[in-house]
Amino acid sequence: MDESKYIQLLDEAYKQLPEVVYKKQRFEVPQVSGRIIKSRTVITNFREIAKHLGREESHFLRFMLKEVGVRGECNDKGDLTLHSRFQPAMLNKAVSSYFLKYVQCPHCNSPDTIITNENSILKCNACGHQEKITRI
Ligand SMILES: [Zn+2]
Repeated sequence: MDESKYIQLLDEAYKQLPEVVYKKQRFEVPQVSGRIIKSRTVITNFREIAKHLGREESHFLRFMLKEVGVRGECNDKGDLTLHSRFQPAMLNKAVSSYFLKYVQCPHCNSPDTIITNENSILKCNACGHQEKITRI
């Protein structure tokens, strides 16, 4: 398969993802929206995902870059550009992993939590549980 065909196919994978719906009632971990531009992957709803998870963009960004193992940067609009090509499934897996480690309460599973103490404690607003977390 030639290079441009490959990029086209990978980009198609993003177009085929269902539209992201942010529901209020039942919490769902957001899926990435994005596209492939040459040798990069742009996540176009990075800011929305951070907001939906109730986390600082900088914290979420550090995790994502570490998880996928490449460099990347956020622009003013909140798009995240990663310096490699990724399948959507891999990025969604990274988002889920962030959710499990840094958002969801390990005690009652509520997503209604905050991070305090210089990013070292995950505190649950629902049950009051406090969990020590690893700094990224
Ligand atoms: Zn809890």
